[in-house]
Amino acid sequence: MSATSIAKVKGMRVWDSRGRPTVEAEVTLASGTTGRAIAPAGASTGSGEAIDLRDQTLPFNGFGVGRALRNINVEIADVLSGMDSNDQTAIDQAMIEADGTRNKSRLGGNALIAVSMANLAAAANARGTPVWKHLASDRDVHLPLPEVQIFGGGAHAGRRIDIQDIMAIPMSAATFDEALAQVAEVYAAAGQLMAAAGKSFGVADEGGWWPEFDTNEKALDMLMRAIEASGQRPGVDIAISLDIAASEFRTNGRYRLELDKKTFDSDEMIEWLGKWIDQYPIVAIEDPLAEDDAAGLQRFTELYGNHVQVVGDDFLVTDANRIIEAAETGICNSVLIKPNQAGTISETSAAFEAAKNAGWRTIVSARSGETEDVILAHLAVGWGADLLKVGAFSRSERMAKWNEVLRIAESLSDSTPLANLQI
Ligand code: PGA
Ligand code: ZN
Repeated sequence: MSATSIAKVKGMRVWDSRGRPTVEAEVTLASGTTGRAIAPAGASTGSGEAIDLRDQTLPFNGFGVGRALRNINVEIADVLSGMDSNDQTAIDQAMIEADGTRNKSRLGGNALIAVSMANLAAAANARGTPVWKHLASDRDVHLPLPEVQIFGGGAHAGRRIDIQDIMAIPMSAATFDEALAQVAEVYAAAGQLMAAAGKSFGVADEGGWWPEFDTNEKALDMLMRAIEASGQRPGVDIAISLDIAASEFRTNGRYRLELDKKTFDSDEMIEWLGKWIDQYPIVAIEDPLAEDDAAGLQRFTELYGNHVQVVGDDFLVTDANRIIEAAETGICNSVLIKPNQAGTISETSAAFEAAKNAGWRTIVSARSGETEDVILAHLAVGWGADLLKVGAFSRSERMAKWNEVLRIAESLSDSTPLANLQI
């Protein structure tokens, strides 16, 4: 047994930002070095994601993770015992084979991703390097641009509005610190404007202001006002990005926007979003059409892909093969990278590489159910993501990640560049 062989793998129940149980894994190496990580959980999940294994019996409304924890403590611990933590690919492969299903439904995607990330942390700790550096090795790094939610909607706000994320991306900052400061001003201004309008009702799941609006479009108008009220120029200092999360409101092939009382077919939906692209300084739109509307996504990409990032989340589910196929057929030009959609670090890394090879933009992303775990910040820097999306500028499960990138930035030279979004 070498110092970096796995001596122990342990699962423990902790709690996420929605107060639901989730899985924490701890990997201990023969040297005594440990690594720890926590699985996040989505609310607007793609159907192709690795399965988040829940007990589905009381208590905790079925959200218990007892089965996932048992799978770690018995089966996964046994399979990984004695393996070298430096061989992340072999470790992930061993778990994938032990699970034996297409979507990790037997051992649980939440069990696998927690152990996979914990192993990565242990391997980095054993070398005495931060995870980002362990991943980047000798490569030059840049810092991701923050994509920050200002208003949260859809499944994260009781469907108060139909669309899910109304976000700000800083465009004129020279450093990550400046970039965050720019968005902080917009977030604060938006809160003040909502309060002044008598619409201050707290925040949604990811910390964006509660979307108290009469129409979906009014959320965009309010963001424009907030950018201006913060003394910045829309489209120059701060751009807008949206996650439509359209799979959430498509039924029987039609898109139903409850707030606007409109029902659209695919072409009408594209036209509706196209007007927004013409009218607002939008640089990225995620899931503009539903995951089962490949033709719509293709048409949308053909129409707008040359000047807007068309980001695939539900449609691509952090899957390298899906990304390669989508790139070949002209569907999307950017990808959301969520480790727990894939279920292991190696598969997430493969998806990231597939997107890079296709010349796509990459966005490393948190989930709506998050924790204090900050490994995501390290993945974004270590892999070289263009953007980091971890929710709003409030709630510490979000702020912990922004703050971790600040710490990483502080440890780098002042000349480390920020990602550049110019297409
Ligand atoms: P989720 O939302 O974590 O609830 O899936 C995030 C997203 O859709 O990007
Ligand atoms: Zn999304």
